Amino acid sequence: MRRRFTLIELLVVIAIIAILASMLMPALASARAKARQISCISDLKQRSICLFLYVDDSAEALPATRWDEDVATNRFWYQKLYAYSQPMFSRPTYGGGNSGSNPACPSMAGEDGTLVGSGSVSYSNHNWGGFAMNQETGYHNGSVVNANAKTGEFKKPSQTYAMSDAYYYHMTAGLWTTTYPFVVFRHNNGLNILFMDGHAEWRGRFIATSALFSKNP
Ligand SMILES: [Zn+2]
Repeated sequence: MRRRFTLIELLVVIAIIAILASMLMPALASARAKARQISCISDLKQRSICLFLYVDDSAEALPATRWDEDVATNRFWYQKLYAYSQPMFSRPTYGGGNSGSNPACPSMAGEDGTLVGSGSVSYSNHNWGGFAMNQETGYHNGSVVNANAKTGEFKKPSQTYAMSDAYYYHMTAGLWTTTYPFVVFRHNNGLNILFMDGHAEWRGRFIATSALFSKNP
């Protein structure tokens, strides 16, 4: 008589497959998160090229986070960089895709497509985005701060923040730790940062001090 699988043996095999699959799932989720982290840092490097092309065309002046002599024109850093890579600074939802918008991070939306961590911050216009720039590059909110800051004014460029994952478009040490922090640790409990010398790296969760942003730390 040919021997066949008993029901028990079949159930055991199914249980083993289920256990193996459950062991694999977290690894797959973590691989996806890692892929988004790498995709984000690659985009950040692309944006650094745009940033330094802008600097070359502007007598070494960095794009202000929010300021322009002509207030009717391109006031925000991502609008100023739009000319250097339209795909990097266009999103259909924000900024109309034709005047520049704050770039999206691949981890901005969760698996279900909803924005991650937007519950505590409600800046729901085109400024609400994936990245912030160092406010020491220039800012205007009633009065002009640091307008036309030049790259050479930052004395330790390899240690000074240029851009990072964020909820809003500008960043200081104070905004890092305010009640609704502008910073966001989207990638494996850390974030991607671009530095003033053009290198980008991932850093685990930390509290920034003003030295990270300062021209003379
Ligand atoms: Zn990111």
